[in-house]
Amino acid sequence: MKTFFGLGKPGLHYATPPPRLAGPEVVPAGTSVTLLHPGPSKRRTPAALKTGDTVKTGQRLSLYGGADYVIAPVTGTVTALAPFAGHFGRDETAITITASSIKARDDQFASARREPSPETLRHFLAAAPGLPPLERLCNPKRPVKTLVVCGVDEDLLVFTQQHVLRARSHEITSGIQVLKQATGIEDVVILTLREAVQGHGHIDGRVMAVDPVYPSAHPHLVMHQVFGREVPAGQTPEDLGFCFMCAEAVAAIGVAFETGRIPVTKVLTLVARDGTARLVETPIGTRVGDIFERFGIAVVAGDRVVLGGPMRGAAAYSLDQPVRPGTDAVMVLDAASASSVSDYPCVNCGDCVRVCPARMQINLLVRYLEAGKYEDGAESYDLDSCVGCGLCAYVCVSKIPILQYITLAKHELARVRPMEDANA
Ligand code: SF4
Ligand code: SF4
Repeated sequence: MKTFFGLGKPGLHYATPPPRLAGPEVVPAGTSVTLLHPGPSKRRTPAALKTGDTVKTGQRLSLYGGADYVIAPVTGTVTALAPFAGHFGRDETAITITASSIKARDDQFASARREPSPETLRHFLAAAPGLPPLERLCNPKRPVKTLVVCGVDEDLLVFTQQHVLRARSHEITSGIQVLKQATGIEDVVILTLREAVQGHGHIDGRVMAVDPVYPSAHPHLVMHQVFGREVPAGQTPEDLGFCFMCAEAVAAIGVAFETGRIPVTKVLTLVARDGTARLVETPIGTRVGDIFERFGIAVVAGDRVVLGGPMRGAAAYSLDQPVRPGTDAVMVLDAASASSVSDYPCVNCGDCVRVCPARMQINLLVRYLEAGKYEDGAESYDLDSCVGCGLCAYVCVSKIPILQYITLAKHELARVRPMEDANA
């Protein structure tokens, strides 16, 4: 098994919230919101939701009655159900809700919350702000012993989770109590950047710190550097009994159980083209374009709009794209700062290998990926060890979109491997 000790630090530091940063500026919902529900818009089974249906704020909306659902952030009428191509062409359904002037709260969760249980958590809060990984947390086949509450952000320029950890300690404490009661987990770790380690002693958990150098807040690196455990290639921290949950998700669970209302707004770091950053709070489903409009941020030709951070985020191809429960940042990168890609060949400079925290032979792997030979690449060059930090692409002199290749390869392998196993 390889270790993560090979990290040649390129010196990229996580952002920290400015000391006098005001709380999030609120951007109210526009006339409509759009929710992205996993799965296609049309199946053989009739959808449980159709255009014309009225919904209440906080209502659980499941298109086909399965485990997948979204939470209505406003009261209104469903005015459209349309196919939506998610990341790497993933089938999703865009549910548009036109807001009404009359607001009503759904009360199903209020009556179900009295006894915190894994079932209640999974049924009502898996689409809460911060996207709590409740399927992974509450999996009886792979019990979690340590819950890691992440008050660090996983990408550069972003300080959403750091703000939540600093400003919502009471809600986080409530969330931890609920999670302990529902799951029986006793060991809770509060993860913070080393320079922000003070001031969290009143939260119910052991405070532990990571270095401010990217990507040390990535769960696989935290496992190694903070807990002294290696996550084998292709496995996750849950396989070793650890579950990582962002501070906002824990706070959302705390608020939900305290008030009986599922939170429906998302905090995010908004970064304008000139690099100025602010915190914003807006209903999940708000158009990215509405947020830019509120702050007078213009997007011009050549700019790249990114949902998430510059290393691991996804480019938004339309300003109509909505804020999702897991959107920690929205940023506009101008042509100069958005890393461009090229079709230059690899020149074997080795820079990617030197920075890779998983010590992968990327210069060789990339040749397989460019040719679409994903299985061969995975077998010969350890594709499954990649933690998706994006440092290889960042340093690549040939501007090869290495992370996109790797992500596409992982997506394809995740799709075909179960079919191959079933046919074996
Ligand atoms: S994204 Fe690149 S640098 Fe990061 S772990 Fe994967 S291969 Fe290594
Ligand atoms: S950094 Fe780019 S050009 Fe250099 S070895 Fe890696 S893939 Fe090839």
